[in-house]
Amino acid sequence: MTEISTLGEFGLIDRLTEGLAPFNASTLLGVGDDCAVMNYASDAKNRVVATTDMLMEGIHFDLTYTPLKHLGYKAAMVNLSDVYAMNARPRQLLVSIAVGRKCKVEHLDELYAGLRLACERHGVDLVGGDTTSSLTGVAISITCLGEVEEERIVKRSGAHDTDLICVSGNLGAAYLGLQLLEREKRVLSGQKGGTETVAQPDFSGREYLIERILKPEARRDVIDALQKAEILPTAMIDISDGLSSELMHICKKSGVGCRIYEEKIPVDYQTALAAEEFGMNVYTAALNGGEDYELLFTVPLTAHELVTTLPDVKEIGYVTRAELGQKLVTRDGQEFDLKAQGWNPLAEKSEA
Ligand code: ADP
Ligand code: MG
Repeated sequence: MTEISTLGEFGLIDRLTEGLAPFNASTLLGVGDDCAVMNYASDAKNRVVATTDMLMEGIHFDLTYTPLKHLGYKAAMVNLSDVYAMNARPRQLLVSIAVGRKCKVEHLDELYAGLRLACERHGVDLVGGDTTSSLTGVAISITCLGEVEEERIVKRSGAHDTDLICVSGNLGAAYLGLQLLEREKRVLSGQKGGTETVAQPDFSGREYLIERILKPEARRDVIDALQKAEILPTAMIDISDGLSSELMHICKKSGVGCRIYEEKIPVDYQTALAAEEFGMNVYTAALNGGEDYELLFTVPLTAHELVTTLPDVKEIGYVTRAELGQKLVTRDGQEFDLKAQGWNPLAEKSEA
């Protein structure tokens, strides 16, 4: 028998889905992008996209510091982010939950308050799901359907040599937020008494980092801004596993290389401060930390002027021919191969 860790998450998915050919002409794009793409009517202008993501207690969230309302909101955002990453608009959600005995009705009310808020903010309809019990904590699995005009679909596979590489927002904040929460949890677990009696952690000055891990926001605003500026990215992916890993996906799918510059990677001031406090390089967090839910996309070189007009979007490098590899250029001019280290609970813990 083979340990799953020998393949890692992506190797496992490749193996399980190898050679799956569609039986239906309506299946336009299967495994391997942020969403699958379907077309059900030959005269339809729009394509349907679908994505699903599951969050497991103990793996993706820790209920000792995750309010259930936030969890519901985040579970929706994780899916919406994949729909936006196809340049599509989310329309419907299906929500499946598995809960243990510890979970009470009021807890699920909270979870659904978060889901409802996410749906309201993004104009999405919660149209179904499934409810079952669990012996191992809470699990929440969401499927999201969306739509996009055929000519506006953006896949991972469209990047070309000389394209510019752009990223929205800033990176590494969610990772540092998680480190802060985990540290406080360790401190609190060392104290006696119920949760009501112990000192509350003080996150003042770090609120942004905590918000980034507990309450991420899918970047519809970036998709809107791109549309308004009439920029159609050549390739796009959302950053759930870390910049490095996602960039490697675009390069692999597009058959290209890339060159990004450390000094251009957007990092928030609070992220830099927290990284210093934890004695880690902030760019390691930005490249390999997960759960930023920002968008990473490529645009033709000719779109450079237009891209500079987009709010909260930065150019971090450019696409090269595949032979040139996937490179990170550090501040002092050294070049390193990018690694798809990722946010990958199925892989062996990295030695870095
Ligand atoms: P994302 O991070 O964008 O959600 P993933 O890395 O989870 O994407 O998945 C990559 C691709 O593999 C997606 O197209 C996804 O639908 C597909 N995939 C993931 N797990 C499975 C599975 N168990 N069976 C079939 N396809 C899968
Ligand atoms: Mg994705």
